[in-house]
Amino acid sequence: MIVTTSQARRPTRQIVLRHPTNPVAVGGDAPVTVQSMTITKTADVDGTLAQIYALHAAGADIVRCTCNEREAAEGLAEIVPRSPVPIVADVHNDHRMALAALDAGVHCLRLNPGNIRRPAHIKAVAQECGDRGIPVRIGVNGGSLDKDLYERHGGRVTPEAMVESAERELAYFAEVGFDDVKISVKASSVPLMIDAYRLLSERSDHPLHLGVTEAGPPPAGLIKATAGIATLLAEGIGDTIRYSLTADPVEEARAGRQLLEAMGLRERKNVDLIACPSCGRAEVDVIDVARRANEAFGDREIPLQVAVMGCVVNGPGEARDADIGIAAGNKRGHLFVKGRNVAVVPEAEMVEALVEWAELIAEQGTDAAMARADTTIAAREAERDRVRLLAQQGDDANAAGQRVDLIRKRV
Ligand code: SF4
Repeated sequence: MIVTTSQARRPTRQIVLRHPTNPVAVGGDAPVTVQSMTITKTADVDGTLAQIYALHAAGADIVRCTCNEREAAEGLAEIVPRSPVPIVADVHNDHRMALAALDAGVHCLRLNPGNIRRPAHIKAVAQECGDRGIPVRIGVNGGSLDKDLYERHGGRVTPEAMVESAERELAYFAEVGFDDVKISVKASSVPLMIDAYRLLSERSDHPLHLGVTEAGPPPAGLIKATAGIATLLAEGIGDTIRYSLTADPVEEARAGRQLLEAMGLRERKNVDLIACPSCGRAEVDVIDVARRANEAFGDREIPLQVAVMGCVVNGPGEARDADIGIAAGNKRGHLFVKGRNVAVVPEAEMVEALVEWAELIAEQGTDAAMARADTTIAAREAERDRVRLLAQQGDDANAAGQRVDLIRKRV
């Protein structure tokens, strides 16, 4: 079940990217989708298809490929029929590349109004899209805004100028009766893109494609993109999203998918790994165990919340809502399912045990996993280690009490 965010989605009209076996709707009541873009040469058909499949596996619903030259368009003609997801052709400067991409059979075009500027060219592409039933994304970009708009808005990129650029393109499209459109108004500045999308959302009911452009490499790029995209999604704005990271695009697709899952906008297919931040009570290197668990689960389709906790004193209680978890204590790992202790394993086998039990629960359900466990022994052993740790460390494992005593003696 998909749990929605508190703010209702703003109503938008719907467009459909008509992949023959995997059509993807954007806007209206369609779920928010994830996009990414290949970084291969589009003329490299096998390399591009391999990347499209990897992006799809990591969570991308739609993939964009550049169409910047004739060889790219010819590559698209071979890529599109073999792609598992709808393909968007990214076109800049030359409207003939848009027409060539349509000939290649793409499911959507992305046009930048800042660099395809001649009205006759824009209308020719819109007319052709209308005839073929192919939607277009009007992709306004703060960094490549139409020059005259830039000057008219005080020599600055403003939310108003970006929205006006999109509206101008829409007006050209309307002249040939075409409005099968989604829109983006991306900027590398998070506050600017947030304001631009808010304004656009007030003035238009076209579906919106969200993104912070040129966000840069992770982790700062991830933070910027998340700040912009998540803020808007929480306000009910946005129908499809893209992380623009300077990284392997698989990271973009994974980040987009994980954001939607975290916000309750997408059904979870993969492990949600939670872990305590560690503290003076930790009985194990929590960072290392969590990292190894993250690697072991990867993008595997195990839709469970899995917890890695540093100590058996607080871990099982604090992660009692997790589907499965493990807490360290006395050189052992205490496995718990929905807060109930189910097994004790040597510390070195914590990750393996976690994976094994997660697989069992995913395949056979929680009850079957519990039936296999001797919960009485597991609970007794966990309590034994908990008591032992409490006796060793007391209630103040982080030694805050000692520090307070020192402070009080000093002042
Ligand atoms: S008390 Fe235990 S579970 Fe909580 S942060 Fe410290 S080590 Fe982790």
